[in-house]
Amino acid sequence: MREPNTARARRILVTGAAGFLGSHLCDALLAEGHRVLGLDNLNTGNLANLEHLRGEPRFELIEHDICEPFDFGRVDFLYNFASPASPVDYVRIGIETLRAGSEGTRNVLELARKYEAGFLHASTSECYGDPTVHPQPESYWGHVNPVGPRSVYDEAKRFSEAMVMAYHRYYGVDTRLVRIFNTYGPRLHGSDGRVISNLMMQALQGEDLTIYGDGTQTRSFCYVSDEIDGILRLARSNEHFPVNIGNPEEWTILECARQVLEVTGSSSKIRFAPLPEDDPVQRRPDITKAKELLGWEPKIDLRTGLKLCIEYFQRSVERGEKATPA
Ligand code: UDP
Repeated sequence: MREPNTARARRILVTGAAGFLGSHLCDALLAEGHRVLGLDNLNTGNLANLEHLRGEPRFELIEHDICEPFDFGRVDFLYNFASPASPVDYVRIGIETLRAGSEGTRNVLELARKYEAGFLHASTSECYGDPTVHPQPESYWGHVNPVGPRSVYDEAKRFSEAMVMAYHRYYGVDTRLVRIFNTYGPRLHGSDGRVISNLMMQALQGEDLTIYGDGTQTRSFCYVSDEIDGILRLARSNEHFPVNIGNPEEWTILECARQVLEVTGSSSKIRFAPLPEDDPVQRRPDITKAKELLGWEPKIDLRTGLKLCIEYFQRSVERGEKATPA
């Protein structure tokens, strides 16, 4: 087997470093002994996620938009995590989202090509759209509305996948694609509008929990430490085709709300609100490939993961953040 890229890596670039996953990734890479250069244009990223790295000599953050070509010196491996990712955010800044997934991804790939560096792109279960195959294996091509409100994200991510594969096929860049399913944990912004952050914030503030539609739609929630572990294992592999990294435990949104009420001990009520357009009906990763290829599977179930987040969301409430119902 070829020597894994990350094993010889010295300086690693993480785009979207101030984001939820990007910041956890920086921590994990620093813990492995690497030097990390983080990039973020702070459009949806949050400097508070990196506050604890202030004074860390092996970490550097540069405020930069990946849509503008850049080169901040040689890097050995690149993780491309820069993109708005919450539906509330990407619907609000759709053009920026499309640009990040097209021009931005290309600029990052160009750098990987120039320095003959390894490259891992953060793709998404949204590539499957509103899936008609359940659970979703990587071989499923998806069911995406190319002109609906979510298309700014879905099609940007699908375009990115095509661009990444093309840089691999035409230029021999050493690429990887991770399809990330719903992930949660500390550093999810309390106001980012995602279901776990909204429900936790609402429960802790005694507000009604907003459930869109009838709450029978499903998601499969992966705790952040499991997600990062899977991503790092993929980076060390030689797999160029997409790999699902997510927790296959599937929950209806209503069941998820009940879990939140239980772990927080909140007496909040449930309030039903309209279902956003093109909201996927079901979502659950088939992780056979990750298990076989990477020896990876998640360890933390939803109840345990939610408990691990309570303190963080309590602090978010104290900072004055508010849930953002769509
Ligand atoms: N959702 C909800 N209440 C909320 C926020 C989200 O019922 O306050 C639903 C949303 O309609 C979707 C699911 O929860 O069916 C997951 O939404 P999220 O925005 O977290 O991510 P998505 O998986 O849709 O990208």
